[in-house]
Amino acid sequence: MNTPSHLILNLALLRRPVAPVMTWPILIGALIPDAAMFVFYAWARWQGLPESTIWSTAYYSQPWQDIFAVGNSMPLGLLAIALGYYLKRYWLGFVGASMVLHHLADLPLHHDDAHRHFWPLSSVRFISPVSYWDVDHLGRLGATLELVLVLVATVYLLPRLSTRFSQALLAAAAVLLTGAYLLLVRPQG
Ligand SMILES: [Zn+2]
Repeated sequence: MNTPSHLILNLALLRRPVAPVMTWPILIGALIPDAAMFVFYAWARWQGLPESTIWSTAYYSQPWQDIFAVGNSMPLGLLAIALGYYLKRYWLGFVGASMVLHHLADLPLHHDDAHRHFWPLSSVRFISPVSYWDVDHLGRLGATLELVLVLVATVYLLPRLSTRFSQALLAAAAVLLTGAYLLLVRPQG
């Protein structure tokens, strides 16, 4: 899934109706699995790699794949939940829960870019037949599923956010994701 989709979905599913609503722990947990990818992209651009090489070759190289595995680790997310509960640091539990929710959302929507979600216990990857972007692997279906979930979550969240600023931010993210979706599903050639 696209990173903003995770932020919106996780907020809709995990945010509590009363204080502490845990907005920041949820956003941080939703970002952690993709954080290394942004560092990777900045590094690749700084190295002067062309866009095509970045995502077709460099992305799959070591040590980047090992670094990506850390944030995408379900065992680590579960450990954060357990630690948060045990230490009564509930914000930490929400960070962990948001990480695991991100992992679960990625699981059915990644084909050859599937993550090692069980690191460090196992390096198994679940290669889903459906991708959230790759039109050669049911990408239009995956992207449609993702956008429908995001739009439902946006409609649910909008009236529940307390400031005009956060509502505007959410609406802008939904518009951006819809635009990216339309670019992906348009007939090619
Ligand atoms: Zn992800």
